[in-house]
This record gives sequence, structure tokens and C-alpha cells, in this order.
Amino acid sequence: MTMLPEPSAIKLGLVIDLDICVGCQACVVNCKEWNTSGYGAPLADSDAYGESPTGAWLNRVHAYEAGDGANSRTVHFPKSCLHCEEAPCVTVCPTGASFKRAEDGIVLVNEDWCIGCGLCAWSCPYGARELDPAEGVMKKCTLCVDRIYNDNLPQEDQVPACVRTCPTNARHFGDLGDPNSEVSQMVAARSGMDLMPEQGTKPVNKYLPPRPRRAADEAPVSLVAMAEADTPTGFWKWVDSALDRLG
Ligand code: SF4
Ligand code: SF4
Ligand code: SF4
Repeated sequence: MTMLPEPSAIKLGLVIDLDICVGCQACVVNCKEWNTSGYGAPLADSDAYGESPTGAWLNRVHAYEAGDGANSRTVHFPKSCLHCEEAPCVTVCPTGASFKRAEDGIVLVNEDWCIGCGLCAWSCPYGARELDPAEGVMKKCTLCVDRIYNDNLPQEDQVPACVRTCPTNARHFGDLGDPNSEVSQMVAARSGMDLMPEQGTKPVNKYLPPRPRRAADEAPVSLVAMAEADTPTGFWKWVDSALDRLG
């Protein structure tokens, strides 16, 4: 059994804004490219052009339909390792390959020690680990530890690949152990949440919930009714008068 360190003062992690994520998968692809690909293309580890392409992906985005009728919406839900404070994937590991860093809380796998037994994947309630089918070792989000401390990279690149690539700025990186950090303030302002807190894993990563719909969105807009109205208003009135001017 592998021991967890004392809780660290620094808790590096991600904050993911579910209100903003559009499910474009850019973070998924850039994560794959930076962490496990090493090639320009293709991204599947094996059988890339065959019938069953396979590979380990450290970050996946799932999509869910939530709510009913006018209140329904699609929620895109990115998921990678949450770098839990009480990480069961660490304590279950028989070889010490899985470990949590005392200095910043990042949970990592020492691939030289991993025997591919899969116990950590079974113990993770979030399905955040993947056995690399080509290498036979366990892989997971590293919080891009090789980028965030890499002084050879320009400062703007010293953030996780997924954060750097997100076109909508839905992903944020920082120290969630510091109440004054930008990410902590974001979590406080938006009632950031733990994923499945009942599991007792105390994830460091936080999710910002989708904002409630605006009142104006509650009444569905009928373009047909607007187009058929005898006395057009607003945008349609402008279109009407513009067409009149054109003769
Ligand atoms: S999310 Fe899963 S793999 Fe990551 S630290 Fe928590 S239990 Fe371990
Ligand atoms: S698969 Fe590797 S990292 Fe996971 S429990 Fe087994 S030895 Fe540890
Ligand atoms: S932090 Fe790095 S390893 Fe983790 S999901 Fe983002 S890109 Fe992938």
C-alpha cells in the first residue's frame, strides 16, 4: 500500500467552467498531442487507420442533455484526473508507482514501477485513468507537470496544454490552496463544486456550474410568427424598411 503525504499547502489544479465549455474537444486533442502522442499525427496509439483505433486519452469531454423543454440544454463535461487529496488510486497501488507529490499535490504515475495491474483504475470513482494498450502501463492527467515548471518555455506556455489551447477560456489553472489565487476567487464567486463529493476523495479540481438561463430565454422565440406578423417590429421592421428603400 502506498501512503499519501500530509496535505500540501499548495494545491495545483484545474477549474473548469461548464457554462462556457462548448465541447469543441480542442483540450482533448492538445492533451493527447502533448502527453502521449509525440507525433504530428495520427493521435490513436495503434491501428490508427484500421477498424479499431485505440489509445490512452488523459482528458475526455462528455456531453449530456440536462433539463426539460425550454429549460433544456446541452452540458459539455470535460473530465481528467482531479488530483484528489484523499486519492484512492494512490493508496491502492501495490508497487508505489502511483503517488501524490507533497510539494504541490499533483498525483502522478511512475511508469517504470507500474505493473499494469489496473487496481488504481478500479479504485478511481471518476474513471480518470487509462491503461495504455500499447505500453501496458497506467496513464492519467499529469497536470502537465513538464510544462508548468519548464523555464525553457515562454511564460505564457507554462500552463497545462489543455488550458493553453481552450478557445473559449473555459479551463483555468492555479493554486487552489491559496484563497487569494485567481482560481480560488473564481470558485468562491461562482460556487465552484467538487465532482461526486460523497466519494470522500476531496478533489482539488473544481467545476463552475452552468449559470441559470436568462429570463428572456425562457419564452421560446418563434421566427415564423415574427415573419408572418402584419406589423413587423425590431429587427424585422429594420429589414422591412431596408427592403422598401431598395425599391
Ligand atoms: S481523479 Fe481518480 S486518478 Fe485522479 S487522483 Fe482522484 S482517484 Fe486518483
Ligand atoms: S496499474 Fe500501475 S499504477 Fe495502477 S495500481 Fe497497478 S501498479 Fe499501481
Ligand atoms: S492538465 Fe495536461 S495532462 Fe491534464 S488534462 Fe490538461 S493537458 Fe491533459
